[in-house]
Amino acid sequence: MAKDTILIVEDEEDIQELVRYTLEREGHVVVAAETGEKGLAAVLGARPALILLDLMLPGLDGKEVCRRLKQQEETRSIPVIMLTARGEEADIVAGLELGADDYITKPFSTKVLAARVGAVLRRTARTVPATQDVIEIDDLTIHPGRHEVTVAGSKVDLSTTEFGILQFLARRPGWVFTRRQIVRGVHGEDHPVLDRSIDVQIATLRRKLGDRGDLVETVRGVGYRFAE
Ligand code: CA
Repeated sequence: MAKDTILIVEDEEDIQELVRYTLEREGHVVVAAETGEKGLAAVLGARPALILLDLMLPGLDGKEVCRRLKQQEETRSIPVIMLTARGEEADIVAGLELGADDYITKPFSTKVLAARVGAVLRRTARTVPATQDVIEIDDLTIHPGRHEVTVAGSKVDLSTTEFGILQFLARRPGWVFTRRQIVRGVHGEDHPVLDRSIDVQIATLRRKLGDRGDLVETVRGVGYRFAE
């Protein structure tokens, strides 16, 4: 297995150590920085395959570090996992909308950390199917060209928006999306985001998918994702 360099930006020493211990045991190289400024500098030197970014940092906070990483051409494509505290859902949403890929809530176990890091590294390596590719998950089939969805061979009657939401989520299983990201992904940038309306559409979509409705998962306080 190729060794990946992982950068941890975190001011709490205990967490830095936990991350180092866990990820080195997984065969990765861990580089640590304790402030946002040092983190940004370390990215250019270490060229990490992934960044673990604490949101609550002294000085430049995690959201601002994420914003800067996603603005720069040379760092834009490096996946970011935010480290957050419970109750920081608004910051998680903001971070995802700034381009972070996932988040882990503190306190976390070494098992959860290793699994989430592994999942993001695998997902990043995997190419997202093209918009016109047929998507098949278990007995659910999505035909973008025909705008058709079947479950166990039976056609499911979806509205254009429900179809759009399903296709948007199913193209990236495991990724968490905020309501705003889903609306923009389906309707484009200028569409007004009414949180309630997306919730209603997702509820209808799940009901219409019947036994496969559980593939569309709610991520409490944050948004939705398609099961991995
Ligand atoms: Ca912190």
